[in-house]
Amino acid sequence: MEKGLISVDRWAEGSQAYFLTHLHADHTQGLTSTWTKAPIFCSRVTAKLFPFKFPNFKLSLLRVLDLGSWHSLSLVSPSTGSKIAVQVMAIDAHHCPGAVMFLFRGEFGCLLNTGDFRWEKNSERAKLGRETLLNALKDNAVDVLYLDNTYCNPSYEFPPREVAAQQVVDIITSHPEHDIIIGIDTLGKEDLLLHISNALNIKIWVWPERLQTMHLLGFHDIFTTKTSLTRVRAVPRYSFSIETLEGLNTMRPTIGIIPSGLPWVVKPLEGDDKFFYSLLSSRYSRSKVSSKGGKQNDKIKGNLGSVKRFHRYIYSVQYSDHSCYLEIEEFIKLVQPTNVKGIVSSSSCYVDPLYYFGCLCGVNQPSQRLHHQHQKKEGGDGVVPARTNSKLGRVSYTEVEKKRQRVVDLLGVHKSKVSVLRRARRGVKLAENECSD
Ligand SMILES: [Zn+2]
Repeated sequence: MEKGLISVDRWAEGSQAYFLTHLHADHTQGLTSTWTKAPIFCSRVTAKLFPFKFPNFKLSLLRVLDLGSWHSLSLVSPSTGSKIAVQVMAIDAHHCPGAVMFLFRGEFGCLLNTGDFRWEKNSERAKLGRETLLNALKDNAVDVLYLDNTYCNPSYEFPPREVAAQQVVDIITSHPEHDIIIGIDTLGKEDLLLHISNALNIKIWVWPERLQTMHLLGFHDIFTTKTSLTRVRAVPRYSFSIETLEGLNTMRPTIGIIPSGLPWVVKPLEGDDKFFYSLLSSRYSRSKVSSKGGKQNDKIKGNLGSVKRFHRYIYSVQYSDHSCYLEIEEFIKLVQPTNVKGIVSSSSCYVDPLYYFGCLCGVNQPSQRLHHQHQKKEGGDGVVPARTNSKLGRVSYTEVEKKRQRVVDLLGVHKSKVSVLRRARRGVKLAENECSD
């Protein structure tokens, strides 16, 4: 796509239309309340939450896209001055409230930007999202997939959120005399808190700004700011630390729970072993975590699978709003893009999706070459070898997918032309920020 037409989650450069996938800070860097550049397209829920994050924003600049419908835009080519018709569809990304993917089509081809997304198999909401996507794609081959590659590494495997939520409930019920602290962000993990509230028939404490967000989202009776009403408190993640937990335990028995797809480890810091963090590195391997955090990493008893107790007061539960590796793989098999680009490109966690999935795409990317590039970039340390073609050759396609495959084949010539242009011109602009969870 020509430069200067569309930006997704990027705000610095000049474009004619801007698209916001969701309101997490790493997708809004550069966006301010004084924004006047051009209209911003987003979902209805994001538009509702928007003024809370950006007070005094000129709301007439927001354009709401209803999910699952095509919307038309008329843009002007900066180079030729001719009109360019763009169609766009917003599709539920199952990430946090309001989060959507954007599917674009026009004379430039077909582009899909996932934003941050979770691609679970079994929930009703996920099934609806899958249907919407397949219906929208039936006449289109995706030339470039801009992918949430946060966990694009086979090391990252974790259960569906429903399972992880039950693990959190099990931890809470196995500590009947304890206060519970759960570390969360300013948006996201609402379903986890609702699950806890329903399962245990209790209210959940949240901080005042978070309560306002909950009210905007339509949750009026479940959350409270009165500590006397509940023993379960959801606190800002930045305030969650071993020191906090140790301090609270001098007053009342308290445990902390961190819901995250990222592996949490204890990192000794110049003799001070009270600092811990989520290990955000493409060089992560499970063996490293167990060697670093071995003393603290006791699996707690019972049917709690991947739950780790890495400190006497803290549990880590792999509840993630991003797709795990196998879900990313399944998504790419379904979409069958010609090319894939990762949207999380910070140096600490960037993994080029083509390294693992190039052989699933129309573009023939020799994984060996990518492997060498990766080794050079990362010093070759801890890189998990690419999967072999023979394993991927056993993919079984559904009838819909077979039909799509035929469309891909029929459009092969056109697609490859577009792809060459796309590679030359870079396509939709993407965020280059830190990973969020
Ligand atoms: Zn996000």
